[in-house]
Amino acid sequence: MGQTIIEKLWEAHSIADLGDGNQLIYIDRVFFHERTGSIALQGLEAAGRTVRNPEQVFGCMDHIVDTIPGRTDDTMVPGGSAFITTTRKAAHAAGVNLFDLGDDRQGIVHVVSPEQGIALPGLTLVCPDSHTCTQGALGALAWGIGSTECEHAMATKTLAVKKPKTMRVRFTGQPGYGVTAKDMILHLIGRHTASGGVGYAIEFAGEAVRALPMEARFTLCNMAVEFGAWSCIIAPDQTTYAYLAGRPYAPKGHTWEQALAYWQTLPSDDDASFDKETVIDCSALVPQVTWGTSPQHETGIDGIVPDPADEPDTNHRQSIERALEYMDLEPGTQLAGLPIDSAFIGSCTNSRLSDLRNAAAILKGHKVADGIKAICVPGSGQVKKAAEAEGLDKIFTAAGFEWREPGCSMCFYAGGDNLGLGKRTVSSTNRNFENRQGPGTKTHLASPTTVAASAIKGCLTDVRTLEP
Ligand code: SF4
Repeated sequence: MGQTIIEKLWEAHSIADLGDGNQLIYIDRVFFHERTGSIALQGLEAAGRTVRNPEQVFGCMDHIVDTIPGRTDDTMVPGGSAFITTTRKAAHAAGVNLFDLGDDRQGIVHVVSPEQGIALPGLTLVCPDSHTCTQGALGALAWGIGSTECEHAMATKTLAVKKPKTMRVRFTGQPGYGVTAKDMILHLIGRHTASGGVGYAIEFAGEAVRALPMEARFTLCNMAVEFGAWSCIIAPDQTTYAYLAGRPYAPKGHTWEQALAYWQTLPSDDDASFDKETVIDCSALVPQVTWGTSPQHETGIDGIVPDPADEPDTNHRQSIERALEYMDLEPGTQLAGLPIDSAFIGSCTNSRLSDLRNAAAILKGHKVADGIKAICVPGSGQVKKAAEAEGLDKIFTAAGFEWREPGCSMCFYAGGDNLGLGKRTVSSTNRNFENRQGPGTKTHLASPTTVAASAIKGCLTDVRTLEP
């Protein structure tokens, strides 16, 4: 019987069966950010322990930092600057790598790690952040952990982990114009619910995945956790290798050749079997948008707000009723044309260069509608620099978008910067939970191109009506 890529990586990193349902897994690389990683570093210090391999530990300042140009360690988040200064001090004391403010590699951890070639096929990689699954797009076994586990992984390079079941989701067909990786993953979650992946490590496969450029694969994997998955992975291929070649931390020369030979053994064997298989046909997909307070509350942009009365399951019906109350929406409302107050492009889901290029292609020659607050936050200093070299910043600002410094920004509300309390926003982020982007903020998740089109029109808009 052949093995899946997940089983191959699991076996390669398994040290011992702990006899309690867990296995001791070797961890190649550990990431952290200032919101949770600082707690782990301080915990180690307080316990008098050290980081076992500091050169394999990487930190980013991303969650709490201001994204206003000219920023300093000060932040609008109450008490936020203490996270920044504490993390800096603890990281320096531990001797780990830190992409600090002022470093042009700084940015959102899940953008920086692949961009620097730190995440690689075949590695195990953890971070105290739920969207660590993003990095599975490169063929790494990457998953989110808690601060205590992070402390353990830093000190020992191991973690006790329960082996997940395996699922393969095959995306078939060719998506049409305006349909992106964001639409593919939102549709999966909408069709199979936000708990459809619970307990599974998922391999995303199929011709529609193979056809995705690398950065779109990060978007797809980023939201696996919104599907409830333990993590996800895409088998490495020529797209992966072309993306990684020459990246600062990627292997070079003879080591690259050795690594490549190993990476080519990783894809699932033809006769491998999965605990569960699902197929999503992308050929008839339209751009997707959420209407409620879970990523599973989504439909095509040509759809309507559902009627809870049509839902036979009591729990689901009550959850839809509550979502509609929070979102201030009536059943039957057409989503295309729903007025918005703000538009946000950013986050570890959709803030890479190709995301900004695609949004800029829609915005070019247009202005955002009157009264719309529109913000673009590049995912990293490298993304920002590359975008500015192409003049994308000029397109965004000419259209009326603010052009910010890298960070998580208004992907989540930490008590500071916000998109307007109680306002309705269309956002390229990954979570539309109540109050996620600010108290009362009504978030509609969508792709960056749908966000750009909606900003221009002042309402949720089918990007296919604004073909550049
Ligand atoms: S961008 Fe948002 S989802 Fe991504 S790591 Fe930052 S806060 Fe989390």
